[in-house]
Amino acid sequence: MKVLVFNCGSSSIKFKLFDMPEENLLAEGLVERVGTTSAFAALKTPRGKTEINQPIADYPAGFSVIKKMLLHPESGPIQSLSEVKACGHRVVHGAESFGGSMSIDDELEAGIEAVFELAPLHNPPNLTGIKQAQLMFGDIPQVACFDTAFHHSIPEVAYRYALPEKLYTEYKVRRYGFHGMSHQFVARQAAQILGKHKYAVNLITCHLGNGASIAAIRDGHSVDTSMGLTPLEGLVMGTRSGDLDPGILFYLNRKGYDTDSLDTMLNKQSGLLGVSGSSNDVRDLELKADGGDARAQLALDIFAYRIKKYIGAYMAVLNRVDAIVFTGGIGENGAAMRQRILSNLDQQGIILDERKNDIHVGVQGEIQASTSRIKVLIIPTNEELAIARDTFKLTK
Ligand code: ADP
Repeated sequence: MKVLVFNCGSSSIKFKLFDMPEENLLAEGLVERVGTTSAFAALKTPRGKTEINQPIADYPAGFSVIKKMLLHPESGPIQSLSEVKACGHRVVHGAESFGGSMSIDDELEAGIEAVFELAPLHNPPNLTGIKQAQLMFGDIPQVACFDTAFHHSIPEVAYRYALPEKLYTEYKVRRYGFHGMSHQFVARQAAQILGKHKYAVNLITCHLGNGASIAAIRDGHSVDTSMGLTPLEGLVMGTRSGDLDPGILFYLNRKGYDTDSLDTMLNKQSGLLGVSGSSNDVRDLELKADGGDARAQLALDIFAYRIKKYIGAYMAVLNRVDAIVFTGGIGENGAAMRQRILSNLDQQGIILDERKNDIHVGVQGEIQASTSRIKVLIIPTNEELAIARDTFKLTK
């Protein structure tokens, strides 16, 4: 059964076509810079690569380019759209309404729309993608997979902020958490590696990409995570600040920074980029730091220190930890960063095997020393496959 997975952002559409339940990847593609005259689209299949450079005015135009690429006589993975039996969609915010992946109907679409305010940059394009897929594929099942859903198990003590009650009851201000498909995917994979049932593992999962978050997982369920009402809270990220003293905002506001400029500063100009002054990419920063760039070194050190603090906090939350899991572009590939994060934790039972750490770049494996009480796992994430699995499960 062919399942097409969509990840629709404000100016990009990413998609992957899987054959399920074999989990074979038949094609992957993207459309970038939608809404511009310099848009770019590409499709990769085992038979070749198609690239298209042309203006793509809007989402409908983006989807017709996708259709053209999927049906391309030489490189396309299908001959007819009717071969696709279901679509799965990444939806960023499910708020309190959606605790798992769900088949899409009118009520569910209204639910996604109802939380536009909580994720103004993400949920609107997610819903547009769903509507376009419905138009393109007609009456096949569509499934929504929420980034927040895996974190529904977080208890109130961890999801509530110490704010007046009314902010929660009236405005739903609480921790939701994100990257749920990834944290869940690696948690299930970790259970397999450890030879335990999926609901018998205690883990700390670190999703370290351009966006970064960490989760405490007890008995296979998320019980805390670093991102909050929005993806801004928690770890230092490529361009996001992560945790801050909220007083900084009042202070800057009185200095003349308005809400929009603070929003832009904290989301787009902070994090690794803000501290280093030069890049949000860990690879660049490692090179610069090796060459003596003190600001690059500081950015890397602050990034690692924040993660170490959260690992310590979540070890206290969980009491027993079976493994620490690294995933995402930095978690999977950044051996030097993993070393920085896990240095000097031997008294906590975490000891890295330096050689194993160095050779595990982008591949699954264990990198702890034989004397380490807690295992350290590298598990490449695959959010699209997780979406394809849920879509298949709900529609087969
Ligand atoms: P996104 O959140 O955009 O999906 P990714 O998970 O792809 O991000 O991670 C992107 C980040 O991964 C890059 O910004 C880069 O810093 C980091 N990265 C990729 N390869 C390496 C590497 N070999 N060493 C260190 N960091 C890496």
